[in-house]
Amino acid sequence: MTTPPFDQMPDNPYLLLTPGPLSTSKGVKRVMLRDWCTWDDDYNAIVETIRARLLTIANAPEGYTSVLMQGSGTFSVESVITTAVAPGDRLLVLANGAYGLRIAEIARRIGIDFTVLDSGELAQPGLNELAATLADDPAITHVAVVHCETTTGMLNPIEEIGAVVKEHGRIYIVDAMSSFGGVPIDMATLGADFLISSANKCIQGVPGFGFVIARRAILASLAGTARSLSLDLHAQWQTMEEHHGKWRFTSPTHTVRAFAQALAEFEEEGGVAARHQRYRENHRILIEGMERLGFVCLLNPSVRSPIITAFYNPPHPDYDFRRFYEALKTRGYVIYPGKVSEHSTFRIGTIGHVFPRDIEALVEAVEQSREP
Ligand SMILES: *Cc1c(COP(=O)(O)O)cnc(C)c1O
Repeated sequence: MTTPPFDQMPDNPYLLLTPGPLSTSKGVKRVMLRDWCTWDDDYNAIVETIRARLLTIANAPEGYTSVLMQGSGTFSVESVITTAVAPGDRLLVLANGAYGLRIAEIARRIGIDFTVLDSGELAQPGLNELAATLADDPAITHVAVVHCETTTGMLNPIEEIGAVVKEHGRIYIVDAMSSFGGVPIDMATLGADFLISSANKCIQGVPGFGFVIARRAILASLAGTARSLSLDLHAQWQTMEEHHGKWRFTSPTHTVRAFAQALAEFEEEGGVAARHQRYRENHRILIEGMERLGFVCLLNPSVRSPIITAFYNPPHPDYDFRRFYEALKTRGYVIYPGKVSEHSTFRIGTIGHVFPRDIEALVEAVEQSREP
């Protein structure tokens, strides 16, 4: 079997309108055609450049460092929890969706002492409740929250939450998986001690690793606390620092090279500000078009993110999500099923190598695909 030359390869049969993996550019895919040696200087220099650029994108001041970790985003979340929340510590999880609850589940599996403040899927975490919980429970050492809760698309107020956490002198962990690079995040004012994201979200790389931006002094104090060998964030960081970009175990070389290309394209586009603007435009066109067709958004406009939007499944007895999904897929668009437990929804992502004209075409495809 022969393979056509790269430039004659067919485009994807459909656009991914999902929160990761998402549609990537041809440039990102093209750079994966080369093999890299995991401990060679050529490769490690790419890793070091990525680590430095991540700090710049986050506007991280002096005193922050970054670490890359193999696996999907959850592996990086788990590496932070198992490394940062040491035996004897207590974690408070602010949950309003599946990803917040996943952090609690990670803690439970490790045997970490934790408690959950669950505001429900349709509400942001309450700042007064958080302050009262921290005041009442001095044993709590760490607070974790999700920035964009991908379950619903809700954007949580991480700055305001951070101010309360810092006022009470606790360590602050933010899962910014689906927002980093697509929504401005300013580490200099946020005060987060650990911020987590991954290669295949708003930077628009391919899946295979996540990354953590961490306060260096705290990370440096965590030698030996991880209750996992492969997810030991401190050990990974130490190896990357001492060996200038070396990973402890086989690194996802092609994914890393693709990520470097994705970062270059990100900067070419104009960085976070430009990407945020494009995603917001995608989101605006989506909402306008879908509402015109009679679809109803799950969330109030004030808490929506430009990342992903949840819509109620139409209550019509003849509507079937699976059929709607397949009809859209045939027309070139893959959307996402719902994840909200209390309401029947589906979701459409507006991140990735996806542009306003794509969303306009999607709305037309929705009009043709819906029934009756
Ligand atoms: C995507 C995502 C994750 C990680 O999910 P993986 O499937 O492990 O990549 C974690 N948190 C949030 C908020 C996410 O959107």
